[in-house]
Amino acid sequence: MAIKVCIANTQLPQAKATVTFSTLPMKKTIGVLAFQGGVIEHKKILSQIGAITKEVRSIQDLETCNALIIPGGESTTIGFFLQESGLMKVIQQKAKENFPIWGTCAGAILLAKHIKADIIPPHLGLMDITVERNAYGRQLSSFEAELEIPELKIKDLQAAFIRAPIITSVLGKAKVLAKHKNDIVLVKEGNLLASTFHPELVGETRLHQYFLELLKS
Ligand code: GLN
Repeated sequence: MAIKVCIANTQLPQAKATVTFSTLPMKKTIGVLAFQGGVIEHKKILSQIGAITKEVRSIQDLETCNALIIPGGESTTIGFFLQESGLMKVIQQKAKENFPIWGTCAGAILLAKHIKADIIPPHLGLMDITVERNAYGRQLSSFEAELEIPELKIKDLQAAFIRAPIITSVLGKAKVLAKHKNDIVLVKEGNLLASTFHPELVGETRLHQYFLELLKS
């Protein structure tokens, strides 16, 4: 909705200047980090649920965003570009200011404070979790599953695990939202969300909807 405000112009007593500005509720823009990985798939789901999306490759791109999704892909590659672009420090700062960030798969690895792996990627280190890279084995061990998320009253969330990590420990304020068998696969810590799986690859919209809810808190 737009409101028009009339301001008396002192120099031209006859004329009135008109200023137009938007009022709440404003449309929110969800940034998708777009160096590599499942960018298009996240954008597609976000558009389906009515969000505006923006591909983020620079500090400038991020400025107009109200939240950020870090997609799956190769955490070493994405981590490298985070550092090269200067986004690493900017995202770390924004996270402290309650900016919602969701990491899927490689994105979850980049959000973790502790990473178990042969090669540790440059990472954001924002969530009090330990993540083990490639914990199910090679690409061939990828699988799909339905997940239960009691807190969201969801019993059948569609999820694809692709050369996925496992969250092996959760500390401090980080809270487990879902497990697959005995493995932790979805964790929330304040404004931060980490999922070891991809809902966007199997057409699942409910977790993106939940992420948009975080923008209100
Ligand atoms: N195996 C990748 C990594 O460790 C993550 C895979 C994915 O994002 N689907 O970076």
